[in-house]
Amino acid sequence: MVDPAPIPPPAIEAMEPYVSARMLTAFSKDATFLDANENPFDPDLGVFETDGLQHYADEAREQLEHAYARFAGVDAECVFAARGIDEVIDLVVKAFCEPHIDRVAAFTPTYGQYRVTSDIQRCAFTSLPYDDSLSLQDGLAKIAAGDFRVVFLCRPNNPTGHLAPGDEVDLLLKTAPRGTIIAVDEAYIEFCHAETCVDRLKQFPNLVVMRTLSKAFGLAGIHTGFCLADKRVLTTLAKVANPYPLPGPCSQIALRALEDDNVAQMQNRVRYLCEVRDSFAGELRSLVGMTRLVASETNFVAACFADGPSLYAELRNRGIHIRELPPMLGQSGWLRFSIGTREQMEDVLGTLVDADTATSLRAARS
Ligand code: PMP
Repeated sequence: MVDPAPIPPPAIEAMEPYVSARMLTAFSKDATFLDANENPFDPDLGVFETDGLQHYADEAREQLEHAYARFAGVDAECVFAARGIDEVIDLVVKAFCEPHIDRVAAFTPTYGQYRVTSDIQRCAFTSLPYDDSLSLQDGLAKIAAGDFRVVFLCRPNNPTGHLAPGDEVDLLLKTAPRGTIIAVDEAYIEFCHAETCVDRLKQFPNLVVMRTLSKAFGLAGIHTGFCLADKRVLTTLAKVANPYPLPGPCSQIALRALEDDNVAQMQNRVRYLCEVRDSFAGELRSLVGMTRLVASETNFVAACFADGPSLYAELRNRGIHIRELPPMLGQSGWLRFSIGTREQMEDVLGTLVDADTATSLRAARS
């Protein structure tokens, strides 16, 4: 008889884990992956030094935080480097939420890791659904009246791609109780840079801005991110962080990515991806089977189709992987397309147009 496996506590047994794109489909060089909002370009930053790897990489953190502060236009004491935004989410919830007592909320639909992290910390999670016009209004009153410890706002939002208007964010910050942390996830902010919330940090010590090198910088492989916040908030996060979380080679690569020439290259690539995105979205609008498209301020586009599941399957048959989304905004059939190169998006469109033409012909015949 096989020995039974150790049993986790009921809350962990019951929780739904986050399912990443790579868990759904393993990477292969022969297929096109437009399912994880990654950058299609190789960062091209050269090889890294192996000298000194026998030591924990401690001073690299400080250098990296200074470099990111310069890039983000904030004081270095307001930057905390971490293993991606995922680690920042974890640290914020771990550091500020009392298990079984504090409550966490997020505007939804959104990035699933906010809920997963609050489940792990045994905190009740509340969805604050966007209304049909994607406004924050319905949630604002609940936050003002509620006792949430942390509220996550993904801006621009994954998976819709929309950007919550600045005046609604101001209202959120002004009306939220001062003890509520407003954690704004700016994973995709480089695609609409002027919209950042960092200039509100000085006025709101309960504001936390989360940033990453995984998207616009094209460095998902080093999983490096940052928390920008009041120094006192960062001191609390540091208390619950693991020792030496940032591998030295990752920090070296991140530092290189933040040099002026490489930032300029990132910005050129962002401009290119935004152009490709806008022309791709324009083409999607002309498909008869497309029932709704959200204007995107990110490197992906979410659109809803009458025959979403079959389009998803057809793209997959042709070796193109995108993300199928659960129903949202009162409709099912949503697909999310990460923006790749112009050629990759032409391949996607070719498949969608073929399927759309076949559907129109069938409709015309019947
Ligand atoms: N926030 C959002 C909104 C995301 O979409 C993702 C990844 N898909 C992350 C955070 C994770 O970022 P990181 O790679 O920095 O952990």
